[in-house]
Amino acid sequence: MTIHVLSPRLANQIAAGEVVERPASVVKEIIENSLDAGATDIDVDIEEGGVKRIRIRDNGQGIPKDELSLALARHATSKITDLEDLEAVATLGFRGEALASISSVSRLTLSSLARNQDLAWQVQAEGRDMTTDISPTSHLQGTTVDVRDLFFNTPARRKFLRTEKTEFNRVEEVIKRLALSRFDVGFNLTHNQRNIYQLRAASSEQEKARRIAELCGSAFMDNALSIDVEREGLHLWGWVAQPTFSRSQADLQYFYVNGRAIRDKLVGHAVRQAFSDVLYHGRHPAFVLYFSLDPAIVDVNVHPTKHEVRFRDHRQVHNFIYSSLHHALADVRPEAKAHAPTPAPSLSTPAAPEPQQQPMRFSSQPPMQTRPQVRESMAFYEASQPLSEHRLHALAEDAVAVSEEPPEVPPLGFAIAQLKGIYILAENTQGLIIVDMHAAHERIVYERMKTAFAQGAIAAQPLLVPLSIAVSQKEVGLAQEQEELFNHLGFVVEPAGPETLLIRQIPVILQKAKVEQLVRDVLADVAVHGTSERIRQHINEILASMACHGSVRANRQLSINEMNALLRDMEVTERSGQCNHGRPTWTQVSLGELDKLFLRGQ
Ligand code: ADP
Ligand code: MG
Repeated sequence: MTIHVLSPRLANQIAAGEVVERPASVVKEIIENSLDAGATDIDVDIEEGGVKRIRIRDNGQGIPKDELSLALARHATSKITDLEDLEAVATLGFRGEALASISSVSRLTLSSLARNQDLAWQVQAEGRDMTTDISPTSHLQGTTVDVRDLFFNTPARRKFLRTEKTEFNRVEEVIKRLALSRFDVGFNLTHNQRNIYQLRAASSEQEKARRIAELCGSAFMDNALSIDVEREGLHLWGWVAQPTFSRSQADLQYFYVNGRAIRDKLVGHAVRQAFSDVLYHGRHPAFVLYFSLDPAIVDVNVHPTKHEVRFRDHRQVHNFIYSSLHHALADVRPEAKAHAPTPAPSLSTPAAPEPQQQPMRFSSQPPMQTRPQVRESMAFYEASQPLSEHRLHALAEDAVAVSEEPPEVPPLGFAIAQLKGIYILAENTQGLIIVDMHAAHERIVYERMKTAFAQGAIAAQPLLVPLSIAVSQKEVGLAQEQEELFNHLGFVVEPAGPETLLIRQIPVILQKAKVEQLVRDVLADVAVHGTSERIRQHINEILASMACHGSVRANRQLSINEMNALLRDMEVTERSGQCNHGRPTWTQVSLGELDKLFLRGQ
């Protein structure tokens, strides 16, 4: 093939590959133009996920007749003229590529009535050379971009589109992102003539909060802290959800730099780091944040879709974002929580009867006072969850609440550090406390499960096919005598003949146990001793192994808050001096013993 110049349309189609990926990207480019044109009302009508039609109408300054055709030409922009402008670009667009690209891969009509003009005009791009066809039309002040049949002439692109629903979801996400960036602009969105959003321009704080609640959910707003920090020309403000409202996906994270939505590595890192002390691994924080700084010290021309930015002083920016958020999160007080009562839906667990708290005595270890727990929301189910992240989380919060009390040193002291992912080091009045964190947590979980179990929270399950067992006549009689014992433990055992028993129901927790054998053994015990502890023992064994699996494993990093929470919990838990396997959970090394190691005072 010989070298030849590409036709304008083909050149535009190639360029379109960069900015026009799918309907959502078209919507983004067109709305950004409306915003750049000073629009205060933007109507977006979408059909079939945007593939059939995207029509966006604004009330901005409009485009004069003699510039209409130019608007569709490549590298035509009204926004910058020289390199210096690019240095301090304040508009969303500046490459002059969007309309040319979109019109090369769709049937596009651009209509506009420019400010102070009487006549409205419209243009369409036609054919390979992208020449335009201009004609009069009727339009109020502002501009309408009507895009039909996206990718009709580029089947390869069209093939990459997903279902109508998925494409529309992305469009909606784009609108959301833009609507969060400009409270002063009203947005209307319809899909297939159905009304999706009707957001009126918001000026008061209350109206802004309402818009955020509408776009991000009211649970987010109920759990959000508002922040506003300004220092050395850097300004960060917005809303951050408290860590209890974390998400399993990074799907509620909006960050704007000078009004432009970005997904930037440096920013992402600063935010993650700010949350690292309070959020569990694998959970994602939720936030809507606005960051502004002198446009001259941030480069937005890094990426064609402008999602990334480059800060001149990236370290300063990182520190500022990190420390602002970190402080906002650290400032959370129980009083603040009282204003945000809605628990995060993603963390809600079924309610279960709360184990009764009794005063407890500690025999083997140094004397400890008990203190009522600040907030006990432990549920049986929670304790049995693997890793019991949620529980730990609640504990960490309790620790915050505890620290509100006068600063007397609790028996197990305050955590200083974690050693090798195994031990917690804490300081109390006598000296050093060393805690085996897995062992300690296991004990706590186990005691809780036992309490819940003992209080009748035994979930029982009728057997689909009752289990019939052959026994002696005497044993049938014993089973009848011990009916209550069995029932209390979740069993229903009935005589079904002179030498047959039917097991109709068992505790859920014993599902995998050898039930028949267990019942036989119980009956044998009762025959000999008049009573049996066997079922309870067996249940305890199972609870213990569940607790073991549900506890923090070694090598997990705990925050200081989590460690303190664990210490406070140990203080109010029975038998917390030993783990379920009988090993000690903690030990005290007194100052005197430490002094001896260093031959001090001798
Ligand atoms: P860019 O936004 O990078 O300048 P576009 O291709 O998106 O490039 O738009 C080209 C030009 O068309 C803009 O610079 C602007 O002058 C004009 N334009 C596009 N959309 C609008 C609109 N809704 N209102 C007013 N002018 C517009
Ligand atoms: Mg543009």
